[in-house]
Amino acid sequence: MPLVKICPRCSKIIDRELNYCKECTSRINKDYNRYERDMETQKIYNSKEWEIAKSKAENRDMGLCISCYHNKTIKYSQLVHHIIELKDDLSKAFDLNNLICLCESCHQKIHKVYKTKNKVKMQNLLRSLIKHTRGGY
Ligand SMILES: [Zn+2]
Ligand SMILES: [Zn+2]
Ligand SMILES: [Zn+2]
Repeated sequence: MPLVKICPRCSKIIDRELNYCKECTSRINKDYNRYERDMETQKIYNSKEWEIAKSKAENRDMGLCISCYHNKTIKYSQLVHHIIELKDDLSKAFDLNNLICLCESCHQKIHKVYKTKNKVKMQNLLRSLIKHTRGGY
């Protein structure tokens, strides 16, 4: 039996009863969780339910980018965005009140805001946009 045990990932010396060092263990868990989440997300996007939810959202939003629409610009939507992201809540995947049609450039802008402290504010704004779309400006 060797005198020391080393972490197979980073070659750090570790306690005999461990398989990996602490840092590698937490990295492995994180990777695994991300992998799990990606699998779940893939499953949702490949599902029949998503096709239905997506076309309902597109009908409701008239196939337009709702963000542009409220800026008095008519632009076709290019995707359906989850206001509360799938990574935060999978249960809202098919919830029509959580879906909004956007063009690519608005979508990118919105995700940029999501990375800031104004995420919740943006989510509230998007929710109010879909509520106030019908009936015009
Ligand atoms: Zn390690
Ligand atoms: Zn737009
Ligand atoms: Zn999005």
